[in-house]
Amino acid sequence: MRVKCPTCRREIEWSLDNSFRPFCSERCKMVDLGAWFTGERAIPGAPQRSPDDEMPQPQGDDGEG
Ligand SMILES: [Zn+2]
Repeated sequence: MRVKCPTCRREIEWSLDNSFRPFCSERCKMVDLGAWFTGERAIPGAPQRSPDDEMPQPQGDDGEG
């Protein structure tokens, strides 16, 4: 059985011996996994923090006297 490596699209022989499957090599496996951390792949709807952290000031009249 032959499968295509998701990273480099190279046809490889599917083998239980291959611990990197469905990738052809460790490198391709790491590339696929690392892509998430390096930002190669864009994650839609990812939570982003605002640079300015504004807190809403509580409005109220301070009764004096
Ligand atoms: Zn590959």
